[in-house]
Amino acid sequence: MEKEILELVGKGEMLPLMEAFYTIQGEGYHKGTAAYFVRIGGCDVGCHWCDVKESWNADLHPPTKISTIVEDAIKYSNTIVVTGGEPLTWDMTTLTSQLKAKGMQVHIETSGAYKLTGVWDWICLSPKKLKLPTNEIYHKADELKVIVYNKDDFRFAEEQAALVNPNCILYLQPEWSRCEKVIPDIVDYVMKHPKWKVSLQTHKYLNIP
Ligand code: SF4
Repeated sequence: MEKEILELVGKGEMLPLMEAFYTIQGEGYHKGTAAYFVRIGGCDVGCHWCDVKESWNADLHPPTKISTIVEDAIKYSNTIVVTGGEPLTWDMTTLTSQLKAKGMQVHIETSGAYKLTGVWDWICLSPKKLKLPTNEIYHKADELKVIVYNKDDFRFAEEQAALVNPNCILYLQPEWSRCEKVIPDIVDYVMKHPKWKVSLQTHKYLNIP
């Protein structure tokens, strides 16, 4: 990559765009709501069950001007979900300020592993054991979404729930490939600990991106 472009990516003035698409938010608090997704490449958290491993290597995704991302996004929806990869790998200040300037509602889906940048209307924090969130994001998260792959994830979920702000909505979501195995445990857990809600990847049942 040219040095000049690398510098722009480093400053968040261009971003490695993996894909962008209009669909239905399948998960968490806003599930069922139409939104435009912007998937940014780059993640080194390394979850073994990750379903977007193609996103990990940022070099595979073309550095794209923020103005291009924004102009495309606003054609489709007034709700923009920025996801990845791990979007906080990059400085989100320019992207979010340009989306906000167009009157968009801007959401992020993040592991919270890196410094929180950007201005967000909704922060979905999905912490990962391999790289824990920064302290700052626990105070700002609107929803905590813990992916349940095995029973130890209930312990991890409680540990993370103890760190978020009191208004944060708590979700347990089965890891897709383990649904059959873990859904009975999640149902049982949520009935015993009703501060939690179940989140399902409904877009996968709907067969949409
Ligand atoms: S943080 Fe998200 S994108 Fe990164 S490896 Fe984990 S599941 Fe995949």
